This record gives sequence, C-alpha cells and structure tokens, in this order.
Amino acid sequence: RLVDDEEGGVLFFSGGFSSSSSSSGYGYASIEKQRQRLPVYKYRTAILYLVETHATTIIVGETGSGKTTQIPQFLKEAGWASGGRLIACTQPRRLAVQAVAARVAEEMGVKLGEEVGYTIRFEDVTKPDVTVLKFLTDGVLLREMMDDPLLTKYSVIMVDEAHERSISTDILLGLLKKVQKRRPELRLIISSATIEAKAMSDFFGKRKKRRELENEENGIQLEPAILSVEGRGFNVQINYVEEPVQDYVQAAVSTVLLIHEREPPGDILVFLTGQDDIDAAVQLIADEVQTSKKHSPGLVVLPLYSGLPRAEQELVFSPTPRGKRKVIISTNIAETSLTLEGIVYVVDSGFSKQKFYNPITDVENLVVAPISKASAKQRAGRAGRVRPGKCYRLYAEEYFLNHMSNEAIPEIQRSNLVSCIIHLKALGIDNILGFDWPASPSPEAMIRALEVLYSLGVLDDDAKLTSPTGFQVAEIPLDPMISKMIIASNQFGCSEEIITVAAVLSIQSIWISGRGIQKESDEAKLRFGDHVTFLNVYKGFLQSGKSSQWCHKNYVNYHAMRKVLEVREQLKRIAQRIGIVLKSCESDMQVVRKAVTAGFFANTCRLEEYSHNGMYKTIRGSQEVYIHPSSVLFRVNPKWIIYNSLVSTDRQYMRNVISIDPSWLLEAAPHFYLLQQSNPLH
Ligand code: ADP
Ligand code: MG
Repeated sequence: RLVDDEEGGVLFFSGGFSSSSSSSGYGYASIEKQRQRLPVYKYRTAILYLVETHATTIIVGETGSGKTTQIPQFLKEAGWASGGRLIACTQPRRLAVQAVAARVAEEMGVKLGEEVGYTIRFEDVTKPDVTVLKFLTDGVLLREMMDDPLLTKYSVIMVDEAHERSISTDILLGLLKKVQKRRPELRLIISSATIEAKAMSDFFGKRKKRRELENEENGIQLEPAILSVEGRGFNVQINYVEEPVQDYVQAAVSTVLLIHEREPPGDILVFLTGQDDIDAAVQLIADEVQTSKKHSPGLVVLPLYSGLPRAEQELVFSPTPRGKRKVIISTNIAETSLTLEGIVYVVDSGFSKQKFYNPITDVENLVVAPISKASAKQRAGRAGRVRPGKCYRLYAEEYFLNHMSNEAIPEIQRSNLVSCIIHLKALGIDNILGFDWPASPSPEAMIRALEVLYSLGVLDDDAKLTSPTGFQVAEIPLDPMISKMIIASNQFGCSEEIITVAAVLSIQSIWISGRGIQKESDEAKLRFGDHVTFLNVYKGFLQSGKSSQWCHKNYVNYHAMRKVLEVREQLKRIAQRIGIVLKSCESDMQVVRKAVTAGFFANTCRLEEYSHNGMYKTIRGSQEVYIHPSSVLFRVNPKWIIYNSLVSTDRQYMRNVISIDPSWLLEAAPHFYLLQQSNPLH
C-alpha cells in the first residue's frame, strides 16, 4: 500500500491542481522564447566569459536547465566554431546523443547531419567541413584520440553528464587533462547534474607541478572555474510504500493505474531497469486497460530504453494528445540524460541495471541493483519540471534513510578493465598504474585484465601491444574478446560467419520479447549453440529478401536485423582495413566454434557432473552459472560451453552460449590454461 507521507495516510491526496493545465509546459511559445526561458539562458554571458578565461569550466545545473542543448549553441554563437574548428559535446549514452543532436538541429533550424551532427558507434551522422556542433558518446571521442591524440580539430570539448561517472567518461577526463598540457588553447567544459563538482575541480586543479599553474599562458587560468546554474524545479511530494514490495514491476503497474484513476492530468514517468521488465510492464498495463473499462480511455503507454527503434523513440518526445495521459516506462536514461516534458508523477522502483565486476572470480555481470540516494533524488526531481509533482517510491522510507548508499560507485571501480587498458596502451600510455585517474581502479582488476590481454596475445611480456594482433584488436571498436574472435577467424577461414556473429552480439537482442522456448523440430543434439542459430537467422533473413513477415513468423526483431546488416557492413570495412580476408566456411560450424573459442576462452564453463538442474561452474573462478532460458542450449546442457555475457537475476545466467571441445582451449590459450594451479581441464 502506498502512503502519502505528508497527508498522514491519505491515499493519493489530490492537490488543487487545475485539471485544464496544458501537459506540454510551454504551449505554443516559439523555439527562441523557449530557449530564453531556460535557466542557463541567464548565465549565457557568465558561461562564455568563464570559458574564455579558464582552461576548464565546471557547470552544475539541474536536469532540464538547458546545459546540453544550449551551451554548445552559445559557444557556436560566440565564435568557437569559426575557422574550421569544432565544438564537441559528449554523452555516456547513445540514445541521448541522438535525441539531443536532433533537438539542437531543430532549435537551430538546420538539417541533422549538417551543421549539427552526431556520431555513435557504427553510426556517423556528420559532414566534414560542414558540421560544427558534434554530439558523440564519450567512447567515440576516445576512439578518435587513436587517430588524433590531441583532438586538434576541437576548440571546446564539453564532457556532459559527468556525474554518471561512466568508465569512458573517467578515462576521457584523465586523458583530456593530459591533452590540456600540450594544447593550452583547448577548453573543457564539464557539466553535471549533481553537486559532486568539488571532486572534479580537485582533479583538474591538482597539477603535478606547481609551475604549471603559475605559468598561465595568455591569461588562461588553469585552476577550474565552477558555475552553478540555479534551477527552478517545483516542489515534489515524496510517497513511500509501508512494506517492501515483492514484485516491483507489478507494484509499478498498480501505482500507475491508481495515479491514473485518482490524480489530475499530468504525465507519468516510471523507472524500471531494462527492456525485459519495461516490456512486461507495458504489456501488463495494456492488459489491465483492456479487461477493465475503468482505466480506459486515456492512457498512452510508451517504453524508453536504448535499442528502441527511432520511430518509437520519437513518440516519447512528442506532445501528449489532448485528453490523454502519457505513461513513459524507462530505464535510468530518463534520470538525467534526457529531458521529458510534462512529467508530473514519477514512480521509482528503486533499482537499475548496473555492471559489477569481481576480480577474484573474474566475472563481470549486469545486475539489477538498488540505486543510490543521489539517483533517487534525481528521479523524484523529474516530477517537478512543469508544476509541483509527486514521486512514488516503491521502497520504504526507512530503507531510503538507512540503507541506500549516498552515491553510486564510479563504473571504473566495478568494471572489467580489458577494453580500458587496450585504449590506453593504443594511445601510448604505458604506465597504467601510474595514470592520473579521477577514481583509481583496483590493482586486482588491473592485474586480471593484463592477464587476459596477455593470454589473448594482445600484450607481450613487456605489457606492450603486440604487432599485429594487439594493434588490430585496438582498431576494432568492440569488446577485445570479440575483436580477437574476428582476427582468429582469418586463420580458420570463417571471417564472413564470424563477422555476422560479431554484428549480432553488438545488438542487444535480435529476438522479439516474449519469444518462448523454441519448439523447433531439429534434434537438440544437433544444436551447437546460439552463435550458430544467429548464422541461421541471418541466412534465413537474407533468403526471405529481408522480409519483415519472415521476422515476425520467426520471433525475430526486424529492426534489430536491419541494424545487424548495417553493423556488419561497417565491420566488414574495418576487417578489410586491418588485413582480414573475407572468406566463408560454408557450413563447417566447427571452425566457427573454434574462432569463438579463440576470443572467449576465458568464459569457459563445465557442467557439474552430478547436477540435475543444469548447474555449470566457470573454469576460472568456480562460479555457479546456468544457461539462460532464451538460449537454444537451455535444457540441452552440453558438458563444455563458452558464454558471451552473464546476467544476474535470481541466479547467474549465461547469455549466448556455444558448445566446445575442451581440447581447443589449450590450442587457443596455452598460457591461460596451463598456468592455472591445477589443470582444470581434467
Ligand atoms: P539539461 O542538459 O540541463 O538537462 P537540456 O538541454 O537537455 O537540459 O534540455 C533543456 C530543455 O530543452 C528541456 O527542458 C526541454 O524543454 C527542451 N528539450 C530538450 N530535448 C528536447 C526534445 N528532444 N524535445 C523537446 N524538447 C526538448
Ligand atoms: Mg543534459
């Protein structure tokens, strides 16, 4: 039961809001008027002055105050994009990059991809010599540093959403601090939604040599400036549940329906964790609305997560139809990365999907875990953008006060560091332990990553990138294990197939949700694993003439398959550039499985002999793991398998698995398997 904490147990007290208020805040104001009403507008001169006079400017402002959409435009208007220079604005999330770039292009009245463009992995919507404002993920900017380590084409780099402390943001900040020494004219803006600015300021203010600070060139201050943009969020009333909820999806759905029934107009934003629970909630609400006349009409329910097709993304930003109430069910992307207009009610599950890495077991997985207090406050704040709002927390107040951590741990301290180390090595940074990090990763994680990279043949005995493998792996914008698999496919003569597998693995899922366990007639014993199934799906898709009906019939997501084709084309080009010969092995699946083994040998698991419930143990850390029910090998349970990733719910599940022959392991990574204390292969 939800309790209204300010109204002493009254359920869903309705405040005196006018029910006729427009749900799209700004009504018909022109875009110029809208811009002028944003909080950052009043700081335009101050921001431009600070950027002019300081190497680094830190800007803190509430979500929706106009940091992301306005500051790059201010910079352009002030001439920072003249003479062929570019202004960059980075985001941790791809979906945010696209959405923000589209909005800024609209505000400037230009076509997206011309003056205003964006780049995300496998998608470059910019035009050389035309684009001056470029939105990109922090990961893409890191990649650009491989070709241009000093990022010479940029005059200003705005590292946005710094409070998220994504692993790429942290690496980028460490590198940009180095770049600044060589390019004093480069300006950095670090923007953030929370007041954690002090840590950032200390990081950029802390210079190795005092002399550096004294030797301020051309009057540019090296000590960072901090500017706080006053927001004007409305009051948000917080409600907690009395008892912990059993099932937050169900609880979120009931709460939405109650709000719809009892509260005045205003859109609802629900925070869940990922595509699975979001799709489930959308379905539950749809079912509820169908069976009970009470709730209909009037609910427009929309999902929001990365990987959503573009057309569906756009619906989230379009104005709510008159007389309707929009319900957006989102991952934490709507926490600070995207501004949604018209939200008056927030339902907060208290969870998000987070990466966790354990260097002892060498297992990284995506876990549904409690959010921090800082996140909970951000989520609640989303309800107060247009008028006073309400937030319904699906957890108890006692839990919030006494058990939630204050801040999330930076991602770099809970990640596998394999990709990160390759990046730094490729940029010529050899002393990784001595690198100036905004937050230091653990030495154990570092050692584990070096070990894996050594076994992959990416690093040599001196921990330098090997030639050619190490440099090739660094060139491919994918997880190093996938890159190694692609490089190995060259020797096995199955690069065509492996590039398809790599393209599929880079997409969240090619299946439409709700796909049950397949009742295919082929003998279970003939199944080698998901990678082989991907190849069959790809073949079938091409043979059908890329038909959407074919996809529908086979529970395949048509949009995902279009994306696979696109990514595959790009990977093909990269592969050719690094000297891989495109060759098909036709139907010899053994070489495909060997190539997968060459990249993913570290993820080998063995079925527990006396296990009747399909329990596997990882070879490296003896972790208990199970095959995910969405896998074609679910219930088939071959003795030796390799997984691509782990997800954790009630158990640790292996996603995308393939069966292997253990003798291939010694072939693929002799050091790795012979160095184990007791040889685990026997
Ligand atoms: P911040 O980065 O400070 O969180 P933004 O610059 O993203 O703020 O957003 C400023 C304002 O721009 C929002 O309050 C909203 O009114 C408008 N806005 C941003 N993105 C969009 C969009 N995709 N569609 C419509 N309006 C948008
Ligand atoms: Mg923003």
